[in-house]
Amino acid sequence: MSYRIDNFIDGETIESRSERFGAIFDPATGQQQGTVALSTAAECLDAIASAERAFADWSQTPPLVRARVMFRFKELMEQHRDELARLISREHGKVFSDAQGELTRGLEVVEFACGIPHLLKGEHSLNVGRGVDSHSMMQPVGVCAGITPFNFPAMVPLWMFPVALACGNSFILKPSEKDPSLALRMAELLKQAGLPDGVLNVVNGDKEVVDVLLTDPRVQAVSFVGSTPIAQYIYATASAHGKRVQALGGAKNHMLVMPDADLDQAVSALMGAAYGAAGERCMAISVALVVGDATADALVAKLSPLVAALRVGPGLGQSPENEMGPLISREHLAKVRGYVDQGVAEGAELVVDGRGVSHGEGYFIGGSLFDRVGPEMRIYREEIFGPVLAIVRAPDYETALRLINEHEYGNGTAIFTCDGDTARDFTTRVQVGMVGVNVPIPVPMAFHSFGGWKRSIFGPLNMHGPDGVRFYTRMKTVTARWPQSLRAGAEFSMPTMK
Ligand code: NAD
Repeated sequence: MSYRIDNFIDGETIESRSERFGAIFDPATGQQQGTVALSTAAECLDAIASAERAFADWSQTPPLVRARVMFRFKELMEQHRDELARLISREHGKVFSDAQGELTRGLEVVEFACGIPHLLKGEHSLNVGRGVDSHSMMQPVGVCAGITPFNFPAMVPLWMFPVALACGNSFILKPSEKDPSLALRMAELLKQAGLPDGVLNVVNGDKEVVDVLLTDPRVQAVSFVGSTPIAQYIYATASAHGKRVQALGGAKNHMLVMPDADLDQAVSALMGAAYGAAGERCMAISVALVVGDATADALVAKLSPLVAALRVGPGLGQSPENEMGPLISREHLAKVRGYVDQGVAEGAELVVDGRGVSHGEGYFIGGSLFDRVGPEMRIYREEIFGPVLAIVRAPDYETALRLINEHEYGNGTAIFTCDGDTARDFTTRVQVGMVGVNVPIPVPMAFHSFGGWKRSIFGPLNMHGPDGVRFYTRMKTVTARWPQSLRAGAEFSMPTMK
């Protein structure tokens, strides 16, 4: 049955007045299953006005009370866990267990936000001068906006709004138009958890509404996660309009395999990290950088049968469960297939070819594995965002490290080794924001902050954790001296006229 996704403004689902709509497809069947309103600029202005009104009271609500809303929200999300995971699989395509994992990682940020009374404690210095004290306080910034990608329709919004709201801000979420249902469902659950109307609004749409969020003077802060060209545009435009911005972009994550690595461990790590969620993760490993031909030969021998045997199919309703679902869209499938064609044309050795895998009209492709990929090739330089792993053979550790450091992206990386000295050297010298040692996808926990380096991020502050609290608050420092008061002149005898 076809459904329609509208907006959530001022605590209500509001039917959009727009005449433009986007199609929501089921990636597993290729069939359209719903439509999403591509809202007008005027509707976005309504949401901003609602958020501004709501900010006045919410910002004055004690942090403890705001935290209690987060506690209830977490409980509700857990009660609805399977329904939400199914919704993710239905619109995104990822397998059900992966969708559940996404929810768990997102809920960890809600758990972090539950600690907001403690996180907002400022600093205090007594007697910075004689009789003078200083203290700092962290105050909410105002109306904040979040613009999110298709690949984590629950987790990436959850990186943003729980922290923003707990800090006392109001928020406007503009989810991906490809899988917008989760955002609306989470807004409903937050209302049920006791969030006052207008504190969280969801506006569906595309560039038209995003541009309003980037330029309207009432919006104080913009969080973005998506591709690098758009991240750069968001950063440049919103900064030029005086807003603080955190804009996270694309990635090409390398896993460095040293000759002393436990190969079985490295192979199993690569399978999950390269092919999980069909490679549509910003922390997916898309390059295995292997030191020495002998190591590379052994790795390819162990890896290739596993890649060829990947269970590819719909994300829902399979038993035993599939390991890899479809890609997000027909266009993206064509793009990923095009990269495999390109790799062959560029002279890389296609060890496993996923192009033959299909399921009806769904947007499926099997896992592909390239060996002997060169750093000049497009399949090495560009983000493919699909289940395509490139093996690059490096003669030694220094060459491998240089390749990672010279790549334009710097989101995540990992080293697999048994040598502590090599690992230590790697973690200190690599130019990448999130680093794993024998951990393939080093996504920081919610109480740390998430973000890459180089063209994987624009703006100085990362998502959630301590940086999230810094991003969604302004620091104010008060220096106070009190003139001599009654105390000095207090008299304890019966006052008489002087
Ligand atoms: P995208 O950049 O196409 O879209 C992201 C958001 O921006 C969507 O809400 C979209 O509606 C909006 N948007 C698209 N074009 C726009 C325009 N011209 N003007 C204004 N807004 C626009 O990204 P996507 O395809 O949804 O997601 C995949 C990308 O996200 C990949 O590059 C992936 O690496 C990246 N990503 C990065 C991280 C990270 O943490 N660094 C996490 C997840 C995804």
